[in-house]
Amino acid sequence: MHKKADSEMFKALWAYDKAAESTDHIQIKKKYELFIDGKFVKPIKGAYFDTVNPSNNEKIASVAEGSSEDVDKAVKAARKAFKGWSKLSGRERGKYIYRIARLIQERATEFAVIESLDGGKPIRESKGIDIPLAANHFFYYAGWADKLSYAFPNRTPKPIGVAGQIIPWNFPLLMAAWKIAPALATGNTVVLKPAETTPLTALKLAEIIEESGLPKGVVNIVTGAGETGAEIVNHPDIDKIAFTGSTNVGKYIQKAIAGTSKKLTLELGGKGANIIFEDAAIDQAVEGIINAIFFNQGHVCCAGSRLFVQESVADVVIQKLKSRMETLMVGSPLDKNTDIGAINSKKQLQTIEDYIKIGLNEGCEIYQPTCDLPKKGYWCPPTLFLNVSQSHRIVQEEIFGPVLAIQTFRTIDEVIEKANNTPYGLSAGVWTQTGSKLFYLTQKLNAGIVWGNTFNKFDPTSPFGGYKESGIGREGGLHGLKSYVKFD
Ligand code: NAP
Ligand code: MG
Repeated sequence: MHKKADSEMFKALWAYDKAAESTDHIQIKKKYELFIDGKFVKPIKGAYFDTVNPSNNEKIASVAEGSSEDVDKAVKAARKAFKGWSKLSGRERGKYIYRIARLIQERATEFAVIESLDGGKPIRESKGIDIPLAANHFFYYAGWADKLSYAFPNRTPKPIGVAGQIIPWNFPLLMAAWKIAPALATGNTVVLKPAETTPLTALKLAEIIEESGLPKGVVNIVTGAGETGAEIVNHPDIDKIAFTGSTNVGKYIQKAIAGTSKKLTLELGGKGANIIFEDAAIDQAVEGIINAIFFNQGHVCCAGSRLFVQESVADVVIQKLKSRMETLMVGSPLDKNTDIGAINSKKQLQTIEDYIKIGLNEGCEIYQPTCDLPKKGYWCPPTLFLNVSQSHRIVQEEIFGPVLAIQTFRTIDEVIEKANNTPYGLSAGVWTQTGSKLFYLTQKLNAGIVWGNTFNKFDPTSPFGGYKESGIGREGGLHGLKSYVKFD
């Protein structure tokens, strides 16, 4: 009853007009080639695939599919470029990286629109988060390029060589920045593969790289699907693999390079715990829960997908959460009012829907607000599951969608044990007004990132990475430089 009253009141008070972001100014080619040795070249086998807009399932462009021959060509270009690039002074390298950062800023709106078109995320997020953070990442590592002797005092860091980098579809440009910026700052060269469903902003980045005058072959971008990624992993002349993606593919990569001298960093999946204590500022915590699980449709490795609420405040938190969910706008990624955009692909929607069925079959109670989903494209309403326990699959496994599993707890020890009872260890959030409790939990939670009274906040200066099946190594900050250097 309460639910209906809230939603009706909200919709009566706030009937938003459509506010579509303009697409007039963006330039998208009909067909994209591979970016190898400083220029766009046709794939040797002549194969192309389509990238579609997941909000209407319409084709946006044809994109080249890199074969083993193309990967070999890219690795050879990167190897040749390494000779000069690794000898350039840090100051010179920094100049190019600053230039790339500034060019991203100059074309930020174009990048944001293309990111939302190709991947389905709300324009509010691509404009306000993805693109500025990507530029910041390049700025930050440009600053390190001539200061490596301060980063590693009394040691002489040397670049590793050619880095093979494979990234996922949830933060396409940002993940490319996380990979490319530290590699270039430390004097390495790169062969990068974007995800099959979201290659366009990486290809725009290639255009910017060309414009920046970066020596040819320093960055090569080879589009394709998983097979192209595997060709990079297995290429004998790659010195390092940096991978962000699922735990399953991470395990495959670890096996594939076992016994070789290739270095490896893995940023994998997660099942983050978001913990609300009874002394938390409840309204802020409710906003935090929304941001933790519905940001980017829940396609976030560090999403707060397991909510733990202290029993004494559970009723009020859940009631407020449901009311807040009634006000979330699900719809066109290009509308400036949209909170939740399209699910990235048909395949991902299928995975999410399968997990919703699993939750229902396991006897969990579902809650979804009333919302009209567009007819075309891939959509999932924000979803809560109540009456869940640790053994349920929707609590154990990563769903990678807007689906939250809610449990309650009574004591600190209980919630620490429950939060750590997962194969993952990437992120957690703690909401309390008591500083000592917050710091105690940051020590006890087995997670690479613990947010206090906030969630899903990112900064290039801050290291990011996981424990257990969430990965190996750290990206971002000073720690992110370490994965790209070696010492004699
Ligand atoms: P995925 O299937 O593992 O794909 C990631 C990348 O690897 C894509 O470019 C993919 O290509 C490629 N790939 C697939 N099979 C491969 C193989 N055998 N060898 C080499 N490369 C291969 O993951 P996803 O579904 O795209 O992304 C979602 C996952 O990424 C989630 O589990 C999420 O938690 C994780 N993630 C982690 C972080 C982090 O920082 N820890 C950040 C973001 C996402 P195609 O896409 O073209 O198939
Ligand atoms: Mg796409």
